[in-house]
Amino acid sequence: MKRAKIGTHVSSSKTLDLVFDRGRDAEAETIQFFVRSPRSWAWKERTDKEKENFLNKKKTFSIFPVVVHASYLFNLASGDKNLWKKSVDGVIEELLLCEELGIEYYVIHAGKAKGQKTEVAISNILNGLNEIFSKVDLKNTYFLVETLAGQQGEIGKTTEEIKILLEPFEKKTKIGVCVDTCHIFAAGYPIHQEEGFLNYKKELQNLIGLDKVKVIHANDSKTPFNSHKDRHEHIGEGYIGLKAFEFFLNDDFFGSLPYILETPKVGNWDKINMERLKSLIH
Ligand SMILES: [Zn+2]
Repeated sequence: MKRAKIGTHVSSSKTLDLVFDRGRDAEAETIQFFVRSPRSWAWKERTDKEKENFLNKKKTFSIFPVVVHASYLFNLASGDKNLWKKSVDGVIEELLLCEELGIEYYVIHAGKAKGQKTEVAISNILNGLNEIFSKVDLKNTYFLVETLAGQQGEIGKTTEEIKILLEPFEKKTKIGVCVDTCHIFAAGYPIHQEEGFLNYKKELQNLIGLDKVKVIHANDSKTPFNSHKDRHEHIGEGYIGLKAFEFFLNDDFFGSLPYILETPKVGNWDKINMERLKSLIH
């Protein structure tokens, strides 16, 4: 079995190629970053030189796969036409750049209902995805819908919801899932117990197929099981505990995936968290 790649989210400030230097300095085997400043709608066109530097480093650094996280400002579920359209256009800008840079995975939070009925929120997301995939033909990049905690009516808090989002597109385009350990635990999947972990795996297998799962966001949880809150904690320091990560990392399927930390950036905790994950692999 191929061993899991262990990595972390890195800053993409200044120029995009620097993510590889930062990944190497952090001793990450795989990395994730934003292609837009996470708190701003502004889109920065990248120069040919910057893209070329990125592509060169992508070839020469041994960091793989490379993951981009969509801006947190997007809400494809929004009932506000203006925000929905800005989100669709924003995703298209980011995805086109990912395609050009040969980025393996683009991870997105599908959207928040924020008081709308779940069915309405889902239908808004599906309209958004239709629009996006009519404009971007994915050849290099997989579009991954992330499992969410269910905060503010987030869509993707159950495997059934993820299935509804993937189904219309899975025959036509590269679409799959990113599983966030903190989010599924907060959403009510008891992965801290072996039976709960195995049941979750079975559910993924039965509803969407394990081959659709491409990336793991490895985060412990600051809030208890089924809390529907999205608060990341260092590995082994939260309510999930080390056992769940041991189940994932040694599983015959999940054990071969890339693991990206999104834990608080304090001191040398990235290094400690990555070492903890590696130490759990038998
Ligand atoms: Zn995320």
